[in-house]
Amino acid sequence: MRLKGKVALITGGARGIGKAIAVVFAREGADVVIADVNLGLALQAASEIESLGRKALALELDVTDYTKVEEGVNKILDKLGKVDILVNNAGITKDNLLLRMSQAEWNAVINVNLKGTFNCIKAVSRPMVKQRSGKIISIASIIGLMGNWGQANYAASKAGIIALTKTVAKELASRNINANCVAPGFIQTDMTAKLADEVKRKMMEAIPMAKLGTPEDVANVCLFLASEESGYITGQTLTVDGGMVMV
Ligand code: NAP
Repeated sequence: MRLKGKVALITGGARGIGKAIAVVFAREGADVVIADVNLGLALQAASEIESLGRKALALELDVTDYTKVEEGVNKILDKLGKVDILVNNAGITKDNLLLRMSQAEWNAVINVNLKGTFNCIKAVSRPMVKQRSGKIISIASIIGLMGNWGQANYAASKAGIIALTKTVAKELASRNINANCVAPGFIQTDMTAKLADEVKRKMMEAIPMAKLGTPEDVANVCLFLASEESGYITGQTLTVDGGMVMV
């Protein structure tokens, strides 16, 4: 098992990609903390993890609130003793064309996606520095690499996560902490289910593999980045997009 004895904190882990990451990590031996605004679903996900024979903790947590994030990390240290892996997965969209985008739509997306990621990295970095090891994985998006109509807020938040990750990678490398991003393309989740048919048709034309990815496709790359196999990789962004963006 590739994550035996490790403790992983996954934000937004109650459903979608985050839940798939939680299950894949648990199957590989990790104890898992599901931190999500939706406590009911987080508890369900945690009991699924327990049924795989691992310890699990469900935390009701809004990543935009630094004080609550710090309290959450302290609770994990208290109950599970350490945090080896952080996956910044919580994310939202509030799409609108730039000319129509409100201050509220801009602020909400930047707050959850970018500030939330900063908050969680900051809160785990002290214990990780102390234990001289850690893996920080942030879920960006190919939209953060290429931009997209109607997604100025989302694209900026995801590009910000990529730049933040490069900085964290540089600052914490000497403490044996790796920080990397995974940039999914279009993945079958509730987030993409609500896209208009016309958008989906256009999207399919732009994907060389001509199919959507699965949450497990993303989870497997996170597993690699969380494991010792990726020990010499830091500050990178791995795309999981069926060949949509090739840099
Ligand atoms: P999802 O199905 O909407 O799940 C996101 C989870 O995050 C939900 O459980 C949500 O809770 C939770 N969440 C939202 N705001 C939060 C906050 N402030 N604090 C803590 N948890 C919060 O999304 P997904 O499709 O799995 O996407 C997961 C990540 O992958 C996101 O960062 C997204 O941007 C990224 N991504 C997704 C795709 C895709 O095609 N799906 C592509 C590229 C990148 P609620 O129940 O309240 O919503």
